[in-house]
Amino acid sequence: MAKQLEDRFRRRFYYLRLSVTDVCNFKCTYCLPDGYQPSGRKNSSFLSLPEIERVVRAFVECGTSKVRITGGEPSLRKDFTDIIHTVASTPGVEKVAVTTNGYRMANHVERWLQAGLTHINVSVDSLDPRMFHQITGQNRFNDVMAGIERALEIGGCQVKVNAVLMKGLNGQELPQFLHWVKDRPVQLRFIELMQTGEMDELFSQHHIAGTDIRAQLLRNGWVPKVRERTDGPAQVFVHPDYCGSVGLIMPYEKGFCQDCNRLRVSALGKLHLCLFGEQGVELRDLMQQDDQQDQLIERISRALDNKAETHFLHDGNTGITPHLASIGG
Ligand code: SAM
Ligand code: SF4
Repeated sequence: MAKQLEDRFRRRFYYLRLSVTDVCNFKCTYCLPDGYQPSGRKNSSFLSLPEIERVVRAFVECGTSKVRITGGEPSLRKDFTDIIHTVASTPGVEKVAVTTNGYRMANHVERWLQAGLTHINVSVDSLDPRMFHQITGQNRFNDVMAGIERALEIGGCQVKVNAVLMKGLNGQELPQFLHWVKDRPVQLRFIELMQTGEMDELFSQHHIAGTDIRAQLLRNGWVPKVRERTDGPAQVFVHPDYCGSVGLIMPYEKGFCQDCNRLRVSALGKLHLCLFGEQGVELRDLMQQDDQQDQLIERISRALDNKAETHFLHDGNTGITPHLASIGG
């Protein structure tokens, strides 16, 4: 194995979040309220399968064992199953995850699992079909839920459900969500609304602090669980009466960046050291041939010298990230 990826703050990186497209068919109020706006590029400019294979191999050679495929909406790629297969067949990859809006899951999840998918995160912002429609701009609640039930029925993979709770919208739905995981082996993940570059009043109108949700959980008998090395950023809570669990992602909490173990590669082949605040480091020119692997690893590892200690979101710094679909949330 080449040297481990480590930054100046002795953080090690085991987890790659790989975006495979910026395109999305949903219009989530906090992400792409006006829908995906093509930038004049052709979709073919997103990373190709051989490029994906090379960049994943480079990361794995430096200790990465978990890869999350994300976007935009990754399942919109026609070769999505091949992407899963390519990532899953890279020796050293132990966990292959996807984050999806679930739109194509009911019909396709079986082949995704056969291709090697081990973890699925599905975004479901409301258990009320009308509110779901209002937040996502798509009247697809039943399709998404059918996809989740199908994945659970087939089994063999871990299913998590992402929700962004927002004041005045789905903010009162915590009890319904908890009830929903009472008998389902699903982890609910509440992601605190993050302010991005293109957001105007949405944040001030709808933001709910993750600490408020945590206080409600603790009051109701939920207890914190210990973290594993490749775990994402969530604080996980369990309850003896519930089959499912709850994860809280609280990017505004002090110390959130301390345990950072993940790096991002955008659909255009740029390395992003953080979800917020930098231009990205070009990697694509070194994903073109197998004999460039050493140079690719060297560039990734050098870039880490510039990884900042924290994202400074607390200071209102949204960096240059216009929305999370642009570099893979
Ligand atoms: N389209 C896929 C989906 O929605 O699951 C994958 C990409 S999406 C950018 C990944 C996750 O980021 C979703 O769970 C979404 O809810 C979350 N997200 C997007 N914008 C956000 C924001 N401003 N604050 C908090 N979470 C956000
Ligand atoms: Fe699309 Fe996901 Fe963004 Fe919603 S959160 S608009 S589904 S990329």
